[in-house]
Order: sequence, then structure tokens, then C-alpha cells
Amino acid sequence: MSTDVYTADALELGRRIAAGEQSSVEITQAFLDRIDDVDGQVNAFICVEPEDALAQAAAVDAQRAAGELPSPLAGVPVAVKDLLCYQQLPTTAASKILEGWCPPYDATVVTKLRQAGLVILGKTNLDEFACGGSTENSGYGPTHNPWDLDRIPGGSSGGSAAALAAREAPLAIGTDTGGSIRQPAAMTGTVGVKPTYGAVSRYGIIAMASSLDQCSPGARNVTDTAALHEIIAGHDPRDSTSLPVEVPPVLEAARSGDVRGMRIGVVKQLRGEGYAPGVRQRFREALTVLEKAGAEIVEVSCPHFEQAVATYYLIMPSEMSSNLARYDAMRYGLRVGDDGTRSTEQVMRLSRGKGFGAEVKRRIILGTYALSAGYYDAYYGSAQKVRTLIAQDCESAFQTVDVLVSPVAPTTAYKIGEKINDPLAMYMGDLCTIPSNLAGLPAGSFPCGLAPEDGLPVGFQVMAPVLDDDRVYRVGAAIERELTAQWGGPLLAKAPALNALNHQEAGK
Ligand code: GLN
Repeated sequence: MSTDVYTADALELGRRIAAGEQSSVEITQAFLDRIDDVDGQVNAFICVEPEDALAQAAAVDAQRAAGELPSPLAGVPVAVKDLLCYQQLPTTAASKILEGWCPPYDATVVTKLRQAGLVILGKTNLDEFACGGSTENSGYGPTHNPWDLDRIPGGSSGGSAAALAAREAPLAIGTDTGGSIRQPAAMTGTVGVKPTYGAVSRYGIIAMASSLDQCSPGARNVTDTAALHEIIAGHDPRDSTSLPVEVPPVLEAARSGDVRGMRIGVVKQLRGEGYAPGVRQRFREALTVLEKAGAEIVEVSCPHFEQAVATYYLIMPSEMSSNLARYDAMRYGLRVGDDGTRSTEQVMRLSRGKGFGAEVKRRIILGTYALSAGYYDAYYGSAQKVRTLIAQDCESAFQTVDVLVSPVAPTTAYKIGEKINDPLAMYMGDLCTIPSNLAGLPAGSFPCGLAPEDGLPVGFQVMAPVLDDDRVYRVGAAIERELTAQWGGPLLAKAPALNALNHQEAGK
């Protein structure tokens, strides 16, 4: 099997399968081999079941032999964040409290992937219950960034992004509550897009903060991401927040990349004072590239974005503390100390104490406090009001511009362990990604180069009005087209640790 399978675009793999040039079983086996070779170092996956993946692939090959394939990505493997329920494999949310739990039903997104003929390779690592921005808060060990194995891949969908960057999968599913698809995409030089809130069903996705959670596609380029977006999006009567609307034409926009005449608003509050110099430099260069491609760059002010981190870190833990109340050790999951001598309450307390990690506990405590009778108005109530002001800032900005842009994160990938004891520093890293979650906007991260000081990838963020997801892809595609031409190929080809992984593989 040529190693070209690992680097080929997902849509190209789909074309080969449809044309009968390669079978889905061959392609799936190649990625399983790659996972076998490199995942010991990357730890992108919590669970891989080769038999299950190969059976799905064989079913697609049989479908092809019998006639039509259900989608252009039929037979192409996909890595799924271990926050989505899939009956064939355990779902852990990277928490010990759910270790070994097999869900009795599939998430709607999983059903859609299966119906479109995609092959689920396995479940990827994340911060426990999606709490974090580094994938260090996992009950199953940290994921390593394929650009430098001593560094974090971002989070919480760090396993999905690392699997893409390490060429362990051509497509990946993540989720994004406060930046969890975009920040790891930025830190691994891949693409990740959070659709409009309500565009993709949340049914069967383990809830973190329900008013913010959004399932999200990731890939190594813009068109593959858009093709995956079209497969997973759409109205679902099983999710009461699902929008009964048509999926915007994101694949068409990704293919066009035409930004002529577009008005692009640089958010003054996210312009980058205090960010790493390389992040600011690459962001500014990407703006110049967009201007040359025919867009108009203007500055806009969204004054309440300055309160976005504080607002998010009240609303998110409040919703989380209530969502996580269901892990009571009585119905499913870990049960500790149930030896007949203890009360139900004691067993619950022991089980939750043992099963949840430190960051999850911190958020349950923060959320419970913010919702408690005496403090509700001061904390949760005020945060909801500021959330409305943030959404209004976006609305008024979109009166004058088509999209809003900023860097994705203030720094590139940092060292594993570097910020683990400083939660506030971690939270501050979310300042660019959080506003679009609070306002429900679609937003994406696109590679815009390497920071000169450390040679690590930087992401460019594009936010669009609710349901104008296609604009995110249009701008992302323009950046990709212009910069790939400058770089003489995809950014990922420059990853030093990835090359080391390749050498190691070649030396086997
Ligand atoms: N880093 C953010 C947090 O820790 C975002 C998490 C997410 O989007 N799931 O809450």
C-alpha cells in the first residue's frame, strides 16, 4: 500500500473507492496499520476496533459492487471523538466514571456517518467531558502533538486533531463548546469548523454545556472539512435545539474561495496585544493575503468580548454541574464501595470522588456555587445578560462586515505539563474562541503558517453570522489556496516530529 493513502485528501480517497481503484478495506487497513505504528507515541485514540472498522469497510465495498455509493465520502475512514455514542464501541468521555460503558444507542451524527458509508476507525482522546484546552485532562493519558511530541495538541478535541496531523485518519469528528475543534486545529496545523449552534444534532453526544455544545467536522483541508460538515449537519427531531433549516452550501463555498468584494472585520478586542509575536505576525500576513485576493479589511469593535471569558466560565460550569449530576453510580458507570455497609449517598460520593478528575470537579464546584440560591442573580444571571450583549455586539458588527476574524489562540502549542497547575492561564487561552459559542455563530480555524520563534502552527479564525457557515469556508478556502501556493504544499508536510514518525515507520 502506497503511503500516499495517508496523505491523500479524503474526497480523493472517496473518488478512488467509487472508481474501483482502491477498496475501502485496503484504505481502512492502511490507516489501521498507521495507527498501530504511531499511536503509541501520539495517543490520539482511546479505542480502536480493527474488526469493527474492517466490517464497515467491507460493507461499503459490497455496496459499491452492487451499485451506487451513498456519498462522496463512502468508504473513507473517520476518527470520532469519544464523546459521541456509538453502540459498537465503549464511550468514555475520557472519564474513569464511564470506563467500559457501551451506549445502548448511536448518536445522530454517528448514524449519519454510517448512512453516508464512512468507516468509524475508533474513538479519539479528549479532555475529560471536554473540559480543557490541552487534552491533558484525560483519564487515559495526554495526547501528544505530532509537530513536537513533548507538546499538547490543544483540546478538548486534541485526539481528533492529532489523528489528522499524524495521518492516522483523513477525517475527524470533534465537538466545540468554547473552542474545542478550533484550538486543536490551530495547534496541529489542521482545519476545524464549529457550525452554527443547532446546525448539527447533539442527540447522543455526551453533554458538557448544552447551550454551547456543537458537534464539529475536522480534516486536513477546507473542502474535506466542508464535505464532512454536509454529511453531519441537518435537522434532527430528537434534539430540541436542532434548527429546522437547510444546510448552507458549505462545500460549494469551500470549492470557490472567492472573497472578492467581501468585507472582513478584524475584531479590535482580539487583535493580539499580548499574544505570541509569531501568532500576530502570521495573522497579519494572512490579512494581507485576503486583501490581495480582493477582500476589504476593516476594523470593528465588539466591546463586550472583553467579558467573554468570565461569562463563559460562569455559564459553562453552571450547565456542566447540572449535566454531570446524572453520573450518580446508580444507573451506569463506575460504582465504588457498594459492599452492603454503605448508604446510597455514601456510594455516590465515593464513586464521584474517584471517577471524576480534578478539572471536572473544579467546574462542578464552580457551577454549583454560581447556581446556588444566594448567588444565582449575581453570577449566572449576570453572565446571561452579558451573553446577550456579546451576541448584540456580533449582530451590530455584521451590519457592516461579512465575517469577523482573529487569531484562534494567543499562543502556539505549549509543553505538556506547562500550564496544568494554572487553570486561569488555561482559561485565558480561550479568549478568541469563546465569543462565537456564546453568540451561536459558525467559526473555523485555518492554518496560516508557522510562528518563527518556535516553528509551530498558527490558526486563523473566521466567524460568520448565524447560518452563514458558507462564509467561514469561503474565507478559509481563500487563505488555504493563497498560502499553500506560497508554501509550495500543505503546511503539515513541514512537521518535524511527523517526519520522525515517518522515519521510524520506514525503519521498521
Ligand atoms: N477550553 C474550553 C474549556 O475548557 C473549551 C472546551 C470545549 O470547547 N469543549 O471549557
